[in-house]
Amino acid sequence: MIIKEDFCLAPFNTFGIEALAYELSIITSINELKELYVAGELSKKLLILSKGSNILLTGHFKGLVLLNQIWGKEIAKEDDNHVYLNVSSGEFWPSLVEYTVDNGWGGLENLTDIPGKMGAAPIQNIGAYGAELRDVFVSLEAFDLTNGKLVTFNKEECEFDYRTSIFKSKFKNRYFITSVLIKLTKSPIINLSYKPLADAFKDRNIEEVTISDVSKKVAEIRESKLPNPDKLKNAGSFFKNPIIEMDKYHDLKLEYDNIPSYALKNSTYKIPAAWLIEQCGWKGKRVGNVGVHEKQALVIVKYDTATGFQILDLANSVKKSVFDKFGIDLEFEVNVV
Ligand SMILES: Cc1cc2nc3c(=O)[nH]c(=O)nc-3n(C[C@H](O)[C@H](O)[C@H](O)COP(=O)(O)OP(=O)(O)OC[C@H]3O[C@@H](n4cnc5c(N)ncnc54)[C@H](O)[C@@H]3O)c2cc1C
Repeated sequence: MIIKEDFCLAPFNTFGIEALAYELSIITSINELKELYVAGELSKKLLILSKGSNILLTGHFKGLVLLNQIWGKEIAKEDDNHVYLNVSSGEFWPSLVEYTVDNGWGGLENLTDIPGKMGAAPIQNIGAYGAELRDVFVSLEAFDLTNGKLVTFNKEECEFDYRTSIFKSKFKNRYFITSVLIKLTKSPIINLSYKPLADAFKDRNIEEVTISDVSKKVAEIRESKLPNPDKLKNAGSFFKNPIIEMDKYHDLKLEYDNIPSYALKNSTYKIPAAWLIEQCGWKGKRVGNVGVHEKQALVIVKYDTATGFQILDLANSVKKSVFDKFGIDLEFEVNVV
C-alpha cells in the first residue's frame, strides 16, 4: 500500500487539468483496496479515477484518489453461441473492443474507440451508434468502500438507463467496480439502427457487412466528428440529450417547426442537445481558452491552459442560454469534481 502525496493529475484526465491529488494510491488488485480499508484510508474523501475521460476537475482534490489499474481478462464460460468475458475494470475499452472484434465476437463493435476503461463503462452505461453497454452486460463485481466487502450486481440491480446507472445516483462513490462480465455472440447480428451508420453502408449488401467493417466505420465517423483529446483537450459530450414530456414537445414544435426529436416509448421525446446549443449560437464559439467544438456542439474543448472552473463557467453559460431560449434544463454528462 503506497500513498503518494501532491500527485499531479494532468496526465490522468483528458481535459489535462493541472490539479493535484493531495493523496493518491495506484490500485492494481482487490487486495490493495482491502489493505487501504483495513488501514482506515477509505474513510477519507475519495475519488475513483480510471482514464479520466468523463471527468472535470475544478480544483485540487483534497482527499485520496484511487487510480484504477486492475488489469486482466478471461473467458469465464463459452458455448456454441456465446462467449462470456470477465474483464478487469482497469482494461482500456478501445483495446477490449479491438480484441473482441479480432476474435469475431459480436456486441462491442458499435462502441469502438470510447476512450475510457472497463470499470467506468457501467457508471454511465456508455453508448454510441445505436448500442449501449447494457446490451452485453451480465453482471459486475464491486468493492464496497464503506465496509470492505465484495458484492455482485446483476443487470437489473444496476438500473441502467440513458447515460446513467445506480452508480451515478443512489450508490454514487460507494463502490469501486473491480470487474465486469459481458456476453458476446459468436454469430454477430449487425446493428445499423443508427442512421448515419446505416447510411455509411447503404451501397453494401447487409449480409456481407462484418463486425470488423462496423468497427472501422464507427472509428472513421468518430475521427471525423470528435476532437481527439491528445490533440485538443476535451471529455467527450459535456451534456446529455434532454428528454421532455409530450406537451412541452408540442409547444416547442409550434415555435420551432424544424426541431429534431426521437419519440421514446413512454410519450416522451429525446431532443439532441447539440441542436439546442447550436441554435443558441454556441457552436464553434471560443471564450478565452475554452470553447464549444466547431463540429460537435456537445463537446467543450480546452484550447490552451485553462482551469476547470473556466470550463465549468462556459458549460454553465451554455446551459443558461438553452434554458432561456427553450425552457430546457440541460444535464451534464461529465462528472464535475
Ligand atoms: C473524445 C471522447 C469521446 C467519448 N465518446 C463517448 C461515447 O461515445 N459514449 C459514451 O458513453 N461516452 C463517451 N465518452 C466519455 C467517456 O469516455 C466514457 O464515459 C468512459 O466510460 C469514461 O471512462 P474513464 O475510464 O475515462 O472514466 P473516468 O473519467 O475516470 O471516470 C468517470 C466516472 O466513473 C467513476 N469511475 C471510474 N472508474 C470506476 C470504477 N472502477 N468503479 C467505480 N467508479 C468508477 C469515476 O469516479 C467518475 O465518476 C467520450 C469521451 C471522450 C474524451
